[in-house]
Amino acid sequence: MATQKQIVNFFEVSMIADALGVPVEFRPRDSYHVTGMIGHGTYDQPIGSWSDDSSLTLCLAETLTEGGGPTQLMQKFTAYLDGDYTPRGIRFDIGIGTSEAISRFNTGRVPATEAGSRSVNANGNGALMRIAPLAFALNGQNWPISRQRITDFTTVTHGHERAIIASCLYVETLRQLLAGQALADALKQADQLVQQSDFPAEELAYFDRLFSPDFFTASRGQIRSSGYVVDSLEAAVWCAANAASVQHLILTAANLGEDTDTIAQIAACLYAAGHLDEPAPMQWRQVLIRTPQSERIIREFAAKYGFR
Ligand SMILES: [Mg+2]
Repeated sequence: MATQKQIVNFFEVSMIADALGVPVEFRPRDSYHVTGMIGHGTYDQPIGSWSDDSSLTLCLAETLTEGGGPTQLMQKFTAYLDGDYTPRGIRFDIGIGTSEAISRFNTGRVPATEAGSRSVNANGNGALMRIAPLAFALNGQNWPISRQRITDFTTVTHGHERAIIASCLYVETLRQLLAGQALADALKQADQLVQQSDFPAEELAYFDRLFSPDFFTASRGQIRSSGYVVDSLEAAVWCAANAASVQHLILTAANLGEDTDTIAQIAACLYAAGHLDEPAPMQWRQVLIRTPQSERIIREFAAKYGFR
């Protein structure tokens, strides 16, 4: 499906997208314009710093490499709160839903897969931002098993049906892209599987716009870029559908405003899954912070799930 080198590139592109969006996270659209990697800004972090999106993605990648499950993942998330899996040993970002789920898990009274809130108001993009590695790990699995794995790794932090549907659509679209499908076809196939999966029709309807024939050609003004899971998935798909290059994709996403780092990161995964051999620009690769831990996790994940 992908070579080890391609998987390493996939992680690099997604981490660069995260790091490029970090300094402008929460800024209103068109109140700024980024043209490359910069430092400081929202969290006052040095250039090349990646956020929770990448840190929690690394936690999942390591869990999958080790053959672990939701409990092991939540233990790594707990370590993240104390600065593990971060670029400089400092954790500067965490979503509310994820933070509360980690607390709930650590009371010892709920299993990992039930730690995420089931409230309709807890439908942030916190599961989408970290779930991409599953697309590699589920290679060759049938849909019922895939659906269960995606669900289990979503509900650790996000237990509502809408968040689960978003994760299913996203991971399955990534799988289809990795299998060589074009984005429109990949989305359609993911939709077909999700439609057959006994989700409530009223919840599936929240995703209808993604599959409308003119969604890819929607204007920028029609795309919302909040941290609400439906907005974030739509924005990421729209960016990927309209990208001329990885550079263009990341800048388009990071300039949408609001949840810039996560939308750029999700968009980058969608784009990179369909363009496995396209690296990010060299000047961005050179400033991305790399740690011995991040390099090891990516290398070992690629060795397990990639071809030589
Ligand atoms: Mg973030």
